[in-house]
Amino acid sequence: MRHIAIIGSGPAGYYTAEAAQKAFGDDVRVDIFDLLPVPYGLIRSGVAPDHQSIKGVSRRYEKTALSDNVRFAGNVAVGRDVTVPELQELYDAVVLATGAPQDRPLEIPGAELGNVFGSAAFVGWYNGHPQFADLDPDLSGETAVVIGMGNVALDVARILAKTRREFEGSDIVSHALEALDKSAIERIVVVGRRGPHQIMMTPKELGELGELERAAPHVDPLDLPDEAEDALLEPGLRKSVTLLRGFAAAPEYVRAEKPLSIAFDFFAQPVALHGTDRVEFLEVERTEVVTGRAAGTGETYRIPASLVVSCIGYRTTPIPNVPFDERAGRFANDEGRILPGLYCVGWARRGPSGTIGTNRPDGYALVEKIREDIESGALGSASKQGRSGFDALAEQRGLDVVTFRDWKKIEEAEEKAAREGAPREKFVDIEAMIRARD
Ligand SMILES: Cc1cc2nc3c(=O)[nH]c(=O)nc-3n(C[C@H](O)[C@H](O)[C@H](O)COP(=O)(O)OP(=O)(O)OC[C@H]3O[C@@H](n4cnc5c(N)ncnc54)[C@H](O)[C@@H]3O)c2cc1C
Repeated sequence: MRHIAIIGSGPAGYYTAEAAQKAFGDDVRVDIFDLLPVPYGLIRSGVAPDHQSIKGVSRRYEKTALSDNVRFAGNVAVGRDVTVPELQELYDAVVLATGAPQDRPLEIPGAELGNVFGSAAFVGWYNGHPQFADLDPDLSGETAVVIGMGNVALDVARILAKTRREFEGSDIVSHALEALDKSAIERIVVVGRRGPHQIMMTPKELGELGELERAAPHVDPLDLPDEAEDALLEPGLRKSVTLLRGFAAAPEYVRAEKPLSIAFDFFAQPVALHGTDRVEFLEVERTEVVTGRAAGTGETYRIPASLVVSCIGYRTTPIPNVPFDERAGRFANDEGRILPGLYCVGWARRGPSGTIGTNRPDGYALVEKIREDIESGALGSASKQGRSGFDALAEQRGLDVVTFRDWKKIEEAEEKAAREGAPREKFVDIEAMIRARD
């Protein structure tokens, strides 16, 4: 029997468990740990609350979770409650699937001003992540600036723009719904260093901006490259650029019918944030794109900003005793192998890129590495204690481990507490989650 510990119950963790089951069948026991008492990582706390069909992928993980040789152990933070070397003593393979939960810092003067947030914090607030539920952003100003030209920036802009009615059927947490309902924001500016041909926005998400009840996208036609150049783009990006062209072509009187604008400010490199306690302006430098890179022109201007959310990427949180690549912001690894017996997968392996589905081949490829290491003898003989050893350690430390069955009770309580038409009302603090289990 081989024992595998997977740290992190997001997509990468569950796809790795699924792959291990397929590869080793009854000869493997997998324990999936998570620091939260609830599973599924960014499916729960990242994917937008108004994209319920995407969140539905967790039903697939449930199949894996409910099989006899896979176990969920929630409310266990690796690095705090148990160390990686301790797990290595107990399991043949330890797989870090801890994602990239920290915002890449906005390294400009003024980034510490009030009402400036990274997207992990802001998204965590509206999605009810216990770490960020108390964020309490001030939405009483007129202009929000969203920095970044990827899908996370689109999520943030859309959530800021939606009406209460447009959140029907979503699982946005009530504290965020109430705050957004009272929001005074009239203008959302999406700022990016480069131009329309360099966006990382997918057509479905970009297209949604054109269908909002009270908000309309604004694109300056002068920012668009010559249309003939679109032919060189890969098809998804070409579709997105075509959408931008459609936004730019919309007559002013049509856009003016909507009280809230979502303006794209391309070729604008953030330079500094200004304000007394709270942010008031974002200063940017006009850029030109030279062979795909933004180059400053020296011309600067200010964009009013009562709220700033930077969506410029994420970093993995280092864990003691695990080699870390500081520059890349993830564990140092060779195709998932950190050392024989210690691995990483998903965002913790490759950084914050790709969709949920990208983590599936990642998980399957990693299990092949584990198989290679077993077959080469690098993992030694099958003599580790696995879950019985962990249970003894947990008891000795007084850890309150949340099982998958406990999670199902928490889930049931969240479903019972849902607003009318909503799938659930999430618990936003760990104590409340644990109480719901008892
Ligand atoms: C805002 C946002 C929106 C997104 N929307 C979409 C979308 O609409 N469609 C799409 O396809 N993709 C989307 N993605 C991308 C998708 O969420 C990721 O590809 C995927 O979640 C990465 O999976 P992961 O398992 O590597 O990390 P995660 O999903 O982050 O899971 C990591 C898990 O590890 C746990 N953990 C971390 N540290 C520890 C520790 N020390 N001990 C124990 N547990 C720990 C965390 O609690 C978490 O549960 C979005 C991402 C973001 C940020």
